[in-house]
Amino acid sequence: MKYVVGHKNPDTDSIVSAIVLAYFLECYPAKLGNLNPETEFVLRKFGVMEPETIESAKNKELILVDHSEKSQSLDDLEEGKIIGIIDHHKVGLTTTEPILYYAKPVGSTATVIAELYFKNAMDLIGGKNKELKPDLAGLLLSAIISDTVLFKSPTTTELDKEMAKKLAEIAGIKNINEFGMDILKAKSVVSKLKPEEIISMDFKDFNFNGKKVGIGQVEVIDIKEIEDKKDKILELLKEKLNKENYDLIVFMITDIMKEGSEMLVIGNVKMFEKAFNVKVENNTVFLEGVMSRKKQVVPPLEKAYLSN
Ligand code: MG
Ligand code: MG
Ligand code: MG
Repeated sequence: MKYVVGHKNPDTDSIVSAIVLAYFLECYPAKLGNLNPETEFVLRKFGVMEPETIESAKNKELILVDHSEKSQSLDDLEEGKIIGIIDHHKVGLTTTEPILYYAKPVGSTATVIAELYFKNAMDLIGGKNKELKPDLAGLLLSAIISDTVLFKSPTTTELDKEMAKKLAEIAGIKNINEFGMDILKAKSVVSKLKPEEIISMDFKDFNFNGKKVGIGQVEVIDIKEIEDKKDKILELLKEKLNKENYDLIVFMITDIMKEGSEMLVIGNVKMFEKAFNVKVENNTVFLEGVMSRKKQVVPPLEKAYLSN
């Protein structure tokens, strides 16, 4: 059986990319974990069913979307057969056999898929050049908005904006900004979530020079929304660090309006300070302009670990 699957602690881009790509490749979409409130909102809005959850790679052919880090994929990934990767992150794994690999440094995996569609090039990745229905166009648009934080993240490219416009036309969405704010609001329902839910909603594991590093993120419209939960979040992250043998955990509380992130730093604080040339006090530091894990946090951290 052939599946398209995104990363653990799935975000809207991972879920939507799996659904839409599975439609073009005529196979099954799958997910690794529960939907976050934003993705729930988006699927409900366009009336699309959530993909099934899979727990093992055994006897499966897999097309990975929105990730290629082993640590973010199925635990028994080597039991399955990776046949393709469609992504917008750095290359995270090597394979023993040739595979289909297509990635672009753009704001979302949904952007990559949309471009293939509008270029009539789905056949280049083994898919069918068939029509994109309004509901699926709406899903792709939502994923672009989510990953680029409504085009504010430094990961945003012209292609993201261009694809969003074309998708909005198909989906019948007249005001992208208004629609985008609805999505961001659904994302920042964090004030209603428990601290443990906030932590696990968007948490990714990395391996930097043999060390396990976890980087989580939550995006809020105003940091105050989460202020009273910060102590508890810190406490839980300290527990997680010890229990799961992390060298370092970084948790980004990203303020969408201020366009910066309060970083909670636990474990190897020295490494973090070296990477960003900042002083961390009480496990906390605010980094102006930092909104993207993959573009602004992973590279300096990995560099610091490699030069150690
Ligand atoms: Mg993602
Ligand atoms: Mg993505
Ligand atoms: Mg994200």
